[in-house]
Amino acid sequence: MTDIKKLLRENIASLKPYSSARHEFTGRGEVYLDANESPFESELNRYPDPLQIEVKERIGQLNDLEPKQIFLGNGSDEAIDLLIRAFCEPNRDSILIFPPTYGMYKVSADINAVQAVKAALNTDFQLNRQAVRHALNGSRVKLIFACSPNNPTGNRLNEEDIDWLLNLENKIIILDEAYADFAQPSISIASRLNKHPNLVILRTFSKAWGMAGARLGIAFASTTIIEILNRIKPPYNINSLTQTAVLDAINNPGMTLKRIELVIGERHRCARLLNEIEVVEHIFPSDANFLLVKFRDAEYIFRKLISKGIIVRDRQSEIPGCLRITIGTPDENDKLLYALNNLS
Ligand code: PMP
Repeated sequence: MTDIKKLLRENIASLKPYSSARHEFTGRGEVYLDANESPFESELNRYPDPLQIEVKERIGQLNDLEPKQIFLGNGSDEAIDLLIRAFCEPNRDSILIFPPTYGMYKVSADINAVQAVKAALNTDFQLNRQAVRHALNGSRVKLIFACSPNNPTGNRLNEEDIDWLLNLENKIIILDEAYADFAQPSISIASRLNKHPNLVILRTFSKAWGMAGARLGIAFASTTIIEILNRIKPPYNINSLTQTAVLDAINNPGMTLKRIELVIGERHRCARLLNEIEVVEHIFPSDANFLLVKFRDAEYIFRKLISKGIIVRDRQSEIPGCLRITIGTPDENDKLLYALNNLS
């Protein structure tokens, strides 16, 4: 079994973390003169809970997990960066990625002077085990980033391949499930985590929960990994407004659940109608809130849509001929379909 602590960077293993005022005193005081805050009470004059216990308790209840198995980041992008910083020695260790995939894994690695080794997905956008074995051979890969449903391709990775990754020795597997709320059937986090202490599952409030502006990402993992992330995070990384807004959203999930259903329904409708359009060559199967679409002349379509005020994401540099189209409201999707049917 992978010994997580052995994978840690040396300077992080010996780090004495910053101890904030709200961390040192967690009881109830009458007069708080310990954090150099403004004494004039308002919604925002006090520092937020550095460990966001109330939010984690609610997220934990929903997922059958303890708060100590949960890390909250300023977007899941913060968790991605902290994981690389905690485990990868600059100019020595590497991460493994499966392109085409989410771009921040490599950018975060580059920022930290950590190499991103690649094992490209197969033509059906599934894992290529032989390429993975080859990439790992003789490398100093410590973290493996697998995205499912994958951005920008939209498909889920095969469960057997994820299990295979999880059984590799001395690797931490980061399973990025930013889009899992749009995948049916949904995947149980607790059952996976309890079997695999080397697994980190990333989720986010930016997609299905409709709170990209609040910046809240979740990392679910073993207590050992969560403790490490807590030691190196900025002390007050989740602001009070976000903590309150997210608690409110979790306590009133009805609208979110309805919207997920609506987006999934629209995804099916758009795929069906796009398929009938002359300029569309192929629509890749999606379990996310977007479709990857191959066009006969993607460059022309991309420019033409912009000229009509419709902005999609150009993915041609990664996947020839392809644009990534987010599922909008029914009205927005109608506008896209109308524009594609009336290009001239
Ligand atoms: N992972 C994936 C696969 C994503 O597509 C994104 C955002 N596009 C993120 C993580 C980052 O999400 P957040 O807003 O939580 O930082």
